[in-house]
Amino acid sequence: MNPAAYVGRFAPSPTGPLHLGSLVAAVASFLDARAAGGRWLVRMDDLDRPRCEPGAAATILRQLDAYSLQWDGAVLYQSQRDEAYAAALDALRAQGAVFACTCSRSQLAQAPRNAEGETVYPGTCRLHAPPPTAHAWRVRVEEANAHFVDRIHGALRQDLANEVGDFVVRRADGLFAYQLAVVVDDAFQGITHVVRGADLLWNTPRQRYLHTLLGLPPPAYAHVPLVINAAGQKLSKQTLAPALPARGRGAVLSGALVALGHPPPAELVNADPAELLAWASAHWKIENVPMRPTIAKSAP
Ligand code: GLU
Ligand code: ZN
Repeated sequence: MNPAAYVGRFAPSPTGPLHLGSLVAAVASFLDARAAGGRWLVRMDDLDRPRCEPGAAATILRQLDAYSLQWDGAVLYQSQRDEAYAAALDALRAQGAVFACTCSRSQLAQAPRNAEGETVYPGTCRLHAPPPTAHAWRVRVEEANAHFVDRIHGALRQDLANEVGDFVVRRADGLFAYQLAVVVDDAFQGITHVVRGADLLWNTPRQRYLHTLLGLPPPAYAHVPLVINAAGQKLSKQTLAPALPARGRGAVLSGALVALGHPPPAELVNADPAELLAWASAHWKIENVPMRPTIAKSAP
């Protein structure tokens, strides 16, 4: 591949400061881009305004900077992109690919769930005309088996119709859904390689389906291991993951590299982040990244 053609990204949701789990995703996408001689962009997935924390985006950018994760170009904010999402929804509507859904939460709670614990939409509203009241928009899923290749997990398959069903692209409260925004923005930013946390692995077929409907070029995917706590939960704001410490960045970054199957040599373990990243991008091999999650040591 022409290395100049590589464009990667890190797309955090600014719901709080970065923790070790989000640092692992940031470092992996950064190293994969830099090792390929590519560009690395940062996008703020601040789409779900009610979930965003004021000041978190600025904190994340400061943290990336402190870890020498230097991004290219301007940061894109999803909160500024409603027009682009609306245009994509219009394009889907024009081809009859979406329908209005008025199911309530309690109705959906009765629906079956997939292995990830998500509701499998039973098709209830497929034949209704759009009502005058607030309603969600769902994509009509006709495809049975979605095949895709992940650079770490290999060839995978999901029965999109039976394991996910028609999925939401705009919520009843008017917010556009992550699935639509990520596809529109990755295409807008010319992203060729998505490297992100394994919690999003089974979202890939939904996004590939939208690429097909919207005629957008699909990026390559790599889903890197999650960091979990001793209770087996993904590190997140909900599970009270501690923010990255302000001191001892070399050791923290070394821990992220270990989680990614790239343990640095002993003499670099406490080195400057810039030095560690230079070593890691020279040694980066995606095939050395493990599939299994890493258990974080308990917070200091
Ligand atoms: N904003 C999403 C998250 O923090 C990641 C989106 C993506 O990488 O596709 O979970
Ligand atoms: Zn419905």
